[in-house]
Amino acid sequence: MSAYDTNNIFAKILRGEIPSHRVYEDDATIAFMDVMPQAEGHMLVVPKAPSRNLLDADAASLPALIAAVQKIAVAAKEAFDADGVTIMQFNEAPAGQSVFHLHFHVIPRRDGVPLKP
Ligand code: 5GP
Repeated sequence: MSAYDTNNIFAKILRGEIPSHRVYEDDATIAFMDVMPQAEGHMLVVPKAPSRNLLDADAASLPALIAAVQKIAVAAKEAFDADGVTIMQFNEAPAGQSVFHLHFHVIPRRDGVPLKP
C-alpha cells in the first residue's frame, strides 16, 4: 500500500487550506458536506489523524470514529427527514477510493430514491 500523502484534498480541508461546509467537529473527527452528493445530505466523516484508509488506521482510534459516524448518521436521518441511512467506506482505488485519507460516507436515503452515480 502507498504511503499517506499529506497533500490529499481532505488533509487540505483539515488544515483549512480549502473550504468545506463543516457540519460536525470533535477532538478527533470532522464531518462536512460532500461536494458531489449522491443524495441530499451526503456527508463525509473524516478523522483528524492521518491514515490513508481503514487498512492502515490505528485500531485504537476506531471506536471514537465509529461513534462519530453513528452520531452523524442519526442526526442526518432526522435533519433530512430520511427513511434510512447508507454508510459507505472504500479502501484503495480498485475498491472505489478516490481521496486517500480515511473517510466514511453518510448518506440519508428516501424511499424509492436511488443514489446518483
Ligand atoms: P471516495 O470515492 O474516496 O470514497 O470518495 C471521495 C468523496 O470525496 C467523493 O464523494 C467526492 O465527491 C468527495 N470530494 C472530492 N473532493 C472534494 C472536495 O474538495 N470537497 C468535498 N467536500 N468533497 C470532495
